[in-house]
Amino acid sequence: MSFAGDQQRGSTTKTTAHFVLVPMMAQGHTIPMTDLACLLAEHGAQVSLITTPVNAARMAGFVAGVEEASLPVQLVELPFPAAEFGLSDGCENLDMLQSTEHIRDFIKACGALQEPLAARLRQEWPPPSCIISDMMHWWTSDIARELGIPRLTFSGFCTFASLARDIIYRDNLLENLNDEEEIVKLSGFPTPLELPKARLPGSLRISGVEQIREKIYAEEMRSDGKIMNSFQELEILYIESYKQATGKKVWTVGPMCLCHRDSNTMAARGNKASLDEPKCLQWLDSNKPGSVIFVSFGSLVSTAPEQLVELGLGLEASNRPFIWVIKAGNKFPEVEEWLADGFEERVKDRGMIIRGWAPQMMILWHQAIGGFMTHCGWNSIIEGICAGVPMITWPHFAEQFLNEKLVVDHLKIGMEVGVKGVTQWGSEQKEVKVTRNAVETAVSTLMNDGEAAQEMRMRAKDFGVKARRALEEEGSSYNNIRLLIQEMGNKQNASG
Ligand code: UDP
Repeated sequence: MSFAGDQQRGSTTKTTAHFVLVPMMAQGHTIPMTDLACLLAEHGAQVSLITTPVNAARMAGFVAGVEEASLPVQLVELPFPAAEFGLSDGCENLDMLQSTEHIRDFIKACGALQEPLAARLRQEWPPPSCIISDMMHWWTSDIARELGIPRLTFSGFCTFASLARDIIYRDNLLENLNDEEEIVKLSGFPTPLELPKARLPGSLRISGVEQIREKIYAEEMRSDGKIMNSFQELEILYIESYKQATGKKVWTVGPMCLCHRDSNTMAARGNKASLDEPKCLQWLDSNKPGSVIFVSFGSLVSTAPEQLVELGLGLEASNRPFIWVIKAGNKFPEVEEWLADGFEERVKDRGMIIRGWAPQMMILWHQAIGGFMTHCGWNSIIEGICAGVPMITWPHFAEQFLNEKLVVDHLKIGMEVGVKGVTQWGSEQKEVKVTRNAVETAVSTLMNDGEAAQEMRMRAKDFGVKARRALEEEGSSYNNIRLLIQEMGNKQNASG
């Protein structure tokens, strides 16, 4: 796939900005980057999106959408050296890792893309004017320096969590803390913030990842700025504080998911859905507006079988219509057995279970959805915000506990389910962190007409309206996209 209507090499006319986007190969990082590619291209920039063959295959929907809209986006596929780093052949995405032990190998394999990518970009025409790369790809800074162009970073975090992470790393707040439950106070944060160590980003120690973590942070601090999948009206206090704390330029250009305007591209987002979409829409149509709770825990969380059973029983007890996305089927056959052994039959009139990849955005946007039980990945939250849907928060790891704070304490558009502890990514913990009673109570509270639920619903709708406005003409994110393209294009024309 290459640019439509390529400009001629050596042309003397002013070139438009050419952005090179290098996402981390994980759904929560790649999906917003594909959205960003569309937003930049819609505003007139040229975009090269870097990926690998297995990930490119998941992007068929994205490629079709870009071609249909004749957007100047090209997909650049580089072979991924999985086997060279001890990974199984074709293991090209974080969601394909067998355990967290392989994270280090995966990050190293990503680093081996440096030379092939640099070689490709040296010959690229029009020449790149800027690299926007995932914070994990610290090595893209070397390429940007060689080409003499800015590198902007993207983390997939909201600004609230980015600021907290920055304070934690800058002040070494987790160093020498051995007790996972020790409360860490983030002084310097603009609003009071304290959490147990285990619930903060950076608390998961994986052997061999520490040095890489330092490089990632150091290169982030040397970068020319940050792209945020957020919007000013949502996080203005934290955006200003982040700029002050880091001295970095910040472009809030989200919510990126709003580049999708029809249900076809929404349905194909991220991967091919594992179910018949028209049937899903028909099922949603058959339910009353605002009556269905949608339960989905993103792409990486692996919920233990015992916990899944507890969650299912809580949903059943709540007596509300639900859609529940389960990814554990292949890994835990006992869950399949339990579902088949009476559960599915008992809830068949009001429950839909999706095994595998769900068309999350298409579902969230449907008027039947009245609540979203989420693991608090930032993409899921911002998608929930755009859909104007209040949330039940069930964080598992990383920055998800910070996102919960933002949603519950500051935006006041959600309520906690009451998680008892951290469920580390890839761990096989068996204990139940949330009981069926807690699930039932949370679902019943959020989906009823009580004052608290109505208040959350109203606020969620209001943020949904503000989110849309941010990307409309003259909206805050719309203007930031234009400024970003202008600034990067001007730099290129000045140096060319
Ligand atoms: N997603 C989806 N279908 C699924 C699971 C996830 O479309 O079955 C999308 C979801 O809409 C979001 C992304 O995958 O855009 C997950 O990102 P998030 O930050 O919420 O969580 P992560 O997967 O990174 O933990």
